[in-house]
Amino acid sequence: MRLYTHASCLQHEPGPDQPESPARLRAVLQALDHDRFATLDRIEAPRATREHLLRVHTPAHVDRILATVPDSGTVRLDEDTVMSHGSAEAALRAAGAAVAAVDAVMGQGGKAFCAVRPPGHHATHDKAMGFCLFNNVAVAAAHAIAEHGLKRVAIADFDVHHGNGTQDIFARESRVLFISSHQMPLYPDSGREDERGVGNIVNAPLSPGDGSYEFRELWDGALLPRLHAFKPQLLLVSAGFDAHRNDPLADLRLGSEDYAWITERLRDIAEAHAHGRVVSTLEGGYNLLALATSVAAHVSALMD
Ligand SMILES: [Zn+2]
Repeated sequence: MRLYTHASCLQHEPGPDQPESPARLRAVLQALDHDRFATLDRIEAPRATREHLLRVHTPAHVDRILATVPDSGTVRLDEDTVMSHGSAEAALRAAGAAVAAVDAVMGQGGKAFCAVRPPGHHATHDKAMGFCLFNNVAVAAAHAIAEHGLKRVAIADFDVHHGNGTQDIFARESRVLFISSHQMPLYPDSGREDERGVGNIVNAPLSPGDGSYEFRELWDGALLPRLHAFKPQLLLVSAGFDAHRNDPLADLRLGSEDYAWITERLRDIAEAHAHGRVVSTLEGGYNLLALATSVAAHVSALMD
């Protein structure tokens, strides 16, 4: 199994008041430094190209992100989304990791985890938001379709926040199935069950206070059967770990064992339909210890 990351992803510095910090990625990489991950094939993420980004983003959006390189300090794009000197480069590497991971698993098979930031799933076709600049998982899905000719790419998103950006980008693209569990009400206030795209969007809200039981019942009952029925040729994962009970940004009550559980189920679907091909990319997770233990559980389950 491959692990994609890049030192540039530590140079995106939104500032001390921002929960989406370089310390998150340091915690993830430290957790993956353990002996049990010694067999991971560690690969430096390349940059996404303009062509990769333009498959899902407008030229104006791509230009705006790449042109925002303040010499010092930060530039605020919205209430939550801030860029520093190193942010554009980090965003290119984060999206590029996902593209390279798709190429690797389509070429040689297997699985990959992209330990990158900024995260991506809130970025829409024309807008950065919610800590996200480019939509990494969407860039990966579009690449799998355009470059590898896939007809069925599934994106499973278990971040506690709704992946509104991914939904926005693929709402009329039936070759992509987007399946999301998330807390409602919560930022970004989308993800109702009646938001269905062209039948390719499956939103499954959870309520504040829900935990392991409700999460597993939802995936077992409604979401995993949809994924199975779609028979994805490639499974992408928006892997956010902020539904953990210790996360400061939300009110669900998952533990790291729940992330192992969902990952095993997703892995089984990839084995059944996609020759085992999975590309998972880091989204949220804001309690550093919870993030580290949850990523370790997720990557362990992918490696099994
Ligand atoms: Zn999140």
